[in-house]
Amino acid sequence: MSNLIDQWVRSEIRSLSAYHVADSKNMVKLDAMENPYTWPDELKQQWRDGLSSIDVNRYPDPQASALKVRLREYMGLGSDASLLLGNGSDELIQMLAMTVSGPDRSILSVEPGFVMYRMIATFAGMKYHGLPLRGDDFSLDTEHLLEAIARHRPALVFLAYPNNPTGNLFEREAVEAVIAAAPGMVVVDEAYSPFTDDSFVADIGRYDNLLVMSTLSKMGLAGLRLGMLAGPDNWLEQIEKTRLPYNINVLTQFSVAFALENQAVFDRQTGMIRAARDRMFQLLDEMEGIDVYPSDANFLLLRTAEGEACRIFEALKASGVLIKLLHGAHPLLNDCLRVTIGRDDENGRFLESLAEAL
Ligand SMILES: *Cc1c(COP(=O)(O)O)cnc(C)c1O
Repeated sequence: MSNLIDQWVRSEIRSLSAYHVADSKNMVKLDAMENPYTWPDELKQQWRDGLSSIDVNRYPDPQASALKVRLREYMGLGSDASLLLGNGSDELIQMLAMTVSGPDRSILSVEPGFVMYRMIATFAGMKYHGLPLRGDDFSLDTEHLLEAIARHRPALVFLAYPNNPTGNLFEREAVEAVIAAAPGMVVVDEAYSPFTDDSFVADIGRYDNLLVMSTLSKMGLAGLRLGMLAGPDNWLEQIEKTRLPYNINVLTQFSVAFALENQAVFDRQTGMIRAARDRMFQLLDEMEGIDVYPSDANFLLLRTAEGEACRIFEALKASGVLIKLLHGAHPLLNDCLRVTIGRDDENGRFLESLAEAL
């Protein structure tokens, strides 16, 4: 049995460990950047009524045309931008990689960053280059980045804007320098767009290699799995060929369109999350024994005293609060923790448990 595995499973797959999701049963769940709010009862009822008229024996609209009209509006896309949908933006990263993959092709991103860029490069049989951010403020080290781009000539560059897990927006000029220098596509990943005012969407069409990726997961529809990729039509026309037919199922197509008709509900929720983030930042900033980094996302990156992150993470867990332990994930994340902004009661539980653990 194990001989067969060794014989046939690619060595780079065998040496991977599967994406780990922590058990969060009965916990205050502040580990995965989810929107903590549900929908008003009346809205839920309308949604259920709508769902009941869907026939699941039929395939979905392969182009999701009606949904795309609403999503273009949601993203504020201009006429220069085409739109492609994925089963979460993770699937779009996979489609992007499949479109350009080859043994001599590479993906380049910055670290600490979103782990799926590296994982999907591996799945697609591509090389991956992870360039370190500056240690003090997690900004782009433009000089080294441009040097690496010239040396490796990556087919794809990913920059998350704001970045995960650090929460900061990079300097606009630095991102523009990367777009100008990259020989291939630059994908600006705006997964956290509901929590920041800045965006590269308006820049689509100003460059022949800029694409903007987004998702509805962080806005509050993580369970529906819908990601968006916007960019020049000549790129998207090619990437579209790697899309599996019907990748956006009927329930998602209906539910997302319904949700976007009620955008005000989500704007209110993400507005509350932004306000809670800023309050949490203030409180953590005043707390002894912990440093907090500024964030344009729905989470905060924290740094404990040296050697304390694991103990504090475990103490929080024991008190029923699940956050993310980042210590060990990257040298620049030593002693780091990441907490997602939740409801006021959840944030309160977290702050209380943290104060006790410190
Ligand atoms: C959460 C996240 C995504 C994944 O989004 P899905 O649409 O849920 O797959 C993509 N990029 C970054 C930077 C993220 O943090």
